[in-house]
Amino acid sequence: MPRIGPRSSLRNDLQRALEFARHASLPCFVLGGGSNALLPERLAGVVLSSNDETVRIQGALVTVGAGALWDDLVAKTLKAGLFGLENLSSIPGTVGAAPIQNIGAYGVELDRFVVSVDAMDLHNAAAVKLKANDCEFSYRDSLFKRQPGRFVVTQMTLELKPRFEPILTYQDLQTLPAKITSSPAGLRQAIQSIRGKKLPDYRLQGNVGSFFKNPILAETEIQALRRDSVISSSAGTAQGKVSAAALIQAAALRDLRVGNAGISPKHHLVIENRGGATLNDIMTLAQLIQEKVQTRFGIDLEIEPQPLTPLYHAP
Ligand SMILES: Cc1cc2nc3c(=O)[nH]c(=O)nc-3n(C[C@H](O)[C@H](O)[C@H](O)COP(=O)(O)OP(=O)(O)OC[C@H]3O[C@@H](n4cnc5c(N)ncnc54)[C@H](O)[C@@H]3O)c2cc1C
Repeated sequence: MPRIGPRSSLRNDLQRALEFARHASLPCFVLGGGSNALLPERLAGVVLSSNDETVRIQGALVTVGAGALWDDLVAKTLKAGLFGLENLSSIPGTVGAAPIQNIGAYGVELDRFVVSVDAMDLHNAAAVKLKANDCEFSYRDSLFKRQPGRFVVTQMTLELKPRFEPILTYQDLQTLPAKITSSPAGLRQAIQSIRGKKLPDYRLQGNVGSFFKNPILAETEIQALRRDSVISSSAGTAQGKVSAAALIQAAALRDLRVGNAGISPKHHLVIENRGGATLNDIMTLAQLIQEKVQTRFGIDLEIEPQPLTPLYHAP
């Protein structure tokens, strides 16, 4: 797996890798940690990944290379007295992949901190600096996700907060004692612990985290789900978002499986590979879940992770 080097040599490295792939008649892909990639059993091609893990802090601005691990960045910024990323603790993967689906958790999404994203635009082989607005971020979505194969993210600049202001809008956090949530380290630890209990360990049982996005519904649809006790009357529905896990649970799909792909007993939104499941098993199971939720509630579940798309390179 060729590694993309520091920014100065980046364009050359990328071009050489693309050239190499072209001569070998192979597709070229970019991957970070692989924690949100739907991978086939065999991948014939050249896979690029960034080894730029540099973190530069200037005041509240943090510029970080695409190859840094996201959770290491969270730890480093807290240590440096910069706040905001606590709720995004323990999300697996790299900084370069974080803007692709605008990672989010516990009431916070990445885009609220992004100043700019540096990338190589393969449509014109140019290094570009995209301001947050140009990235078209929305819920688990971005320009990068909508134009797969076009951009290779090389670094990102975030603006964090010099003062800790906990964000406790997410239901699980509201019940935590103030003595925990009043310190950034306490809040981070609490989130790590909740995640540890709620999610299966992806190092032991392959999974990509949430497999489906939470659907965004009209108020009348939400009321109907509340009436039928599919979601509780107190369940948070920020911006009309309804828990896809609750829909899967209410449709009694827990025991659904295809080959060795099944729904995690720890979290209904997670499809896990129980050993030897193929990409086809996983996608067939996902489709079954979509069909059954559609039949039961008339709601379409959208798949969150993307299939791996080859990088564009000019013919
Ligand atoms: C247990 C578990 C829990 C998770 N929890 C959350 C969560 O709470 N919130 C959340 O948002 N996500 C969550 N995820 C999903 C995942 O952690 C994030 O999407 C993460 O950003 C993926 O990082 P990665 O480096 O592993 O990306 P990869 O899986 O390697 O890549 C994901 C996609 O990004 C592309 N990509 C990777 N690097 C680059 C780059 N430098 N330039 C351009 N494209 C690139 C890849 O081609 C691929 O399409 C979870 C996943 C797991 C397994």
